[in-house]
Amino acid sequence: MFQFFSYINFLFFFMTLFLRPCFPARIIPESVTVITTTQKHNATWHDFSRFLHAEPGSHVSGMAELKKYFNRFGYLSPPLTTANFTDTFDSSFQSAVVLYQKNLGLPITGKLDSNTISTIVSPRCGVSDTAATHRIHTTQHFAYFNGKPRWLRGSPMTLTYAFSPYNMIDTLSLSEIQTVFERAFARWAKVIPVSFRLTEKYQSADIKIGFYNGDHGDGEPFDGVLGVLAHAFSPQNGRFHLDAAENWAVDFNHDDSRVAVDLESVATHEIGHVLGLGHSSIKEAVMYPNLSPRRKKVDLKIDDVEGVQSLYGSNPNFTFSSLLQSENSFNLAVRLETGFYKWIFYLGVSLLVLFLGG
Ligand SMILES: [Zn+2]
Ligand SMILES: [Zn+2]
Repeated sequence: MFQFFSYINFLFFFMTLFLRPCFPARIIPESVTVITTTQKHNATWHDFSRFLHAEPGSHVSGMAELKKYFNRFGYLSPPLTTANFTDTFDSSFQSAVVLYQKNLGLPITGKLDSNTISTIVSPRCGVSDTAATHRIHTTQHFAYFNGKPRWLRGSPMTLTYAFSPYNMIDTLSLSEIQTVFERAFARWAKVIPVSFRLTEKYQSADIKIGFYNGDHGDGEPFDGVLGVLAHAFSPQNGRFHLDAAENWAVDFNHDDSRVAVDLESVATHEIGHVLGLGHSSIKEAVMYPNLSPRRKKVDLKIDDVEGVQSLYGSNPNFTFSSLLQSENSFNLAVRLETGFYKWIFYLGVSLLVLFLGG
């Protein structure tokens, strides 16, 4: 009997040492997913994949459309001498590619390589990347909107938010949507001395949230499934728009669509804009412009926190050590999942089985 309990203790010891710890759910950073053309989504962006390896100086039919994409997100000015963009891979387009690669944290090659093309065709936020260029130090990757606008309210600051009574979606219940937004706002409130309160009074709310289809009157039309997912305006505007055509998901376990987009991740990102942050070039940051389908990215990273705290100061209850601890825990979890420790665990279990068998 004693021996039997020793085996159990031994097993328990190995379980506690090497089994995956119960860290909060995190998604390991992944490469950009490219959905094939058989998927129902924005066909225009996916068509850009045919420009892969196009050389500077070359003339490729349809490249003007890709230039419009670069123009839309702030990388390329409209042509001065001609009415439309040309199909030529000229020097100004190459400069735009370089700036894009820099802002999106890609290897800077000035070429339409596979990294660049797969990022271009992946879904993203509609806010222009270069609307925000004001950075204090070059070592920082976060950005503000031009002029560094922020909400100006007395302290303690409370911002109200409301959902449009007319522009919602029927694939998710109001309570599901509200729960997601409550969590998203709480993440930002945890790090800055600003709180957020849901109100029924839409017209007088500081932050006005709604789902819209196509052209919805603000000059930034949505484009159907994938492509642009959402956009929000800089302080103190408060408009927060989501593309109603997306397959918005709150739980991927209950939604097996390949084009499902995590509402909470997009909500957390857009709140960053509402508060005054621009896009970050750090892929893991919440404020990175792109988000692949079926990806959840909701935890603020140090870059996000430093950015928003430079606008509003720190929440007195927040410490960076807790954030570092949680990031270190995440890294340890990744190592356990993928590395050396996993093999030690398998070795331990094998030895135990042999031991018990003997
Ligand atoms: Zn954005
Ligand atoms: Zn809009």
